[in-house]
Amino acid sequence: MVRKFQIPKEYLKGKRENYSSWDECFMLHAVVAANRSKDPSSQVGAVLVDKNNRILSLGYNGAPNVWDDDKFPWVKEADTAAHTKYPYVIHAETNAMLNYKGDNKDLEGATVYTTLYPCQNCAKFLAQAGIKRVVYLSNKYEGTEDNNAAATCFNYCNIKCEEFSPKLQRRLTVSLLPNEGITEV
Ligand SMILES: [Zn+2]
Repeated sequence: MVRKFQIPKEYLKGKRENYSSWDECFMLHAVVAANRSKDPSSQVGAVLVDKNNRILSLGYNGAPNVWDDDKFPWVKEADTAAHTKYPYVIHAETNAMLNYKGDNKDLEGATVYTTLYPCQNCAKFLAQAGIKRVVYLSNKYEGTEDNNAAATCFNYCNIKCEEFSPKLQRRLTVSLLPNEGITEV
């Protein structure tokens, strides 16, 4: 005989209503990851999430591993391009992929949440890794050649690229003080 247990109805209530959606949760992680960046002019964060809503890795724009951050050219302009950050800095989305030390097959069909629309370089790497969805927070370079090339890459590679659309338009405050956590303002 199968024994059936049932919880009385009056106890099946009281769930929080203003909890984060998956998209909100992962974009929050991307925003937090961006805060790790040492780049004085641009802080970008990215989160890779598999098909089962599990976080694979985080990334932010930064210097290659081992390169001392204090000996890194964070400047945008110099006497030669080789003295600027551009040839060396690794973007958040690419870093998130490189930071993942599991099986590359896990990236197939994954989603990347990024605080900035990917550049064309990251776009082709994401495509090659098998990422199938991109959710971005800002597209401040929309319409530039680089931005158009990234969009073209997503289009031809059947990658769904969508602007982040939260359940509710709201501003959250994150506190690192004990017992405060995230509050809505
Ligand atoms: Zn990039």
